[in-house]
Amino acid sequence: MAVVSQASTILTFEEARHTVEQHATGMRPAVVETVDLLASVNRVLAQSVAADRDFPPFRRAMRDGYAVRAADLANLPATLQVIGEIKAGAPPESLPAEVGPRQAAAIMTGAPAPKGADAVVMVEYTSLTGREVRITRGVSSGDNIVPSGSEARKGEIVLEAGTRMDYGTIAVAASVGLEALAVFRRPEIAILSTGDEVVPLGKQPGPHEIRNSNSYSLAAQVSQAGGVPRMLDIAPDEIERLRSLVQQGLQHDLLLLTGGVSMGKYDLVEQVLAELGAEFFFTGAQIQPGRPIVFGRVQGRYFFGLPGNPISTMVTFELFARPMLEALAGMKPRPLQFLHARLKSEIKTKTGLTRFLPGTLSGEFERVEVELTGWRGSGDVATMARSNCYIVIPPDREKIAAGEWVAVMMR
Ligand code: AMP
Ligand code: MG
Repeated sequence: MAVVSQASTILTFEEARHTVEQHATGMRPAVVETVDLLASVNRVLAQSVAADRDFPPFRRAMRDGYAVRAADLANLPATLQVIGEIKAGAPPESLPAEVGPRQAAAIMTGAPAPKGADAVVMVEYTSLTGREVRITRGVSSGDNIVPSGSEARKGEIVLEAGTRMDYGTIAVAASVGLEALAVFRRPEIAILSTGDEVVPLGKQPGPHEIRNSNSYSLAAQVSQAGGVPRMLDIAPDEIERLRSLVQQGLQHDLLLLTGGVSMGKYDLVEQVLAELGAEFFFTGAQIQPGRPIVFGRVQGRYFFGLPGNPISTMVTFELFARPMLEALAGMKPRPLQFLHARLKSEIKTKTGLTRFLPGTLSGEFERVEVELTGWRGSGDVATMARSNCYIVIPPDREKIAAGEWVAVMMR
């Protein structure tokens, strides 16, 4: 058995994250498909989208009220002559030719403002008697009118390729009349669990065995991130079979391995990859859970060796594999951003590692608190499942007092 010795590269959390981001930058999937607008939710745009006309296409009233000349309301209350009514959808030929001095036109939200008028006064500040309206509040020129073309000019790019479609971007695509969109093909992500003790779900585990949960949690994460999971057979801790499964996995766009990356005698993943000619960008990160995380490239394919402990697998996917998967899906890279919440009860830990510990965010509206869910180590999936976030603890902190602001990564 040829043992390939592998120099270890242990990075800080930030260095490791940036290393992945650097490799993920500039990646562009080759295959594009066209899908109906509604089917594009969560897909990544492969085209840019331009405004097909000015937005708004006319000077749009933002309120129900009266279109006026602001200067006419210098002295209040003011009484103006009402010369007509403009509904949303009123064609241009039905509009009053011009709102003259001391005149007003009743107008509805979404209707085009008539010539001459430079503001809309809200109906709440008016009272109509016959054809005269009495106005008790002043306005400034431009109030409650959106100028035409102020949101976007005809031809302006309103969505860029690489944007993930959500309800906001769907609205933009609908506004410019797109019934179908070009999106990138979803990348296929191979998932390879390793370990002699790991058994598939159909099999009753012996007393010394555990069921394969990692392939399933990873498949769920892959789908959520926009990939198509391809689950491979479980690899035993044995070189030949592991190598053949790794080679199967390398047929896909990205290979995720779990287990077998620690320092144990039967942790063979790095050895097998090295023998296949892999480059390793890092072989560990100063984090908990997930310290033995491996990132590299072999035969033109990126791979991650995720630690086998179930919470480690989940956390390291979110921190490192997700940005690579998103890039393979065509997404523009985005920085990892943490939110902040007040700590509900003190945390004591050790310095040296950036920690991502299952947390429970509670409270409501702007009063939100977070506390540790109380895990029993990186194999504790039950606690993990009860949690709704990770509390991020910087490597220089030993004790964080209740009431302090802490960084939180949502899940
Ligand atoms: P390893 O990284 O191979 O040393 O595994 C670390 C721990 O994770 C061990 O307790 C394994 O039994 C467990 N483990 C490894 N692979 C899986 C898996 N696919 N599903 C659930 N647990 C696993
Ligand atoms: Mg193992």
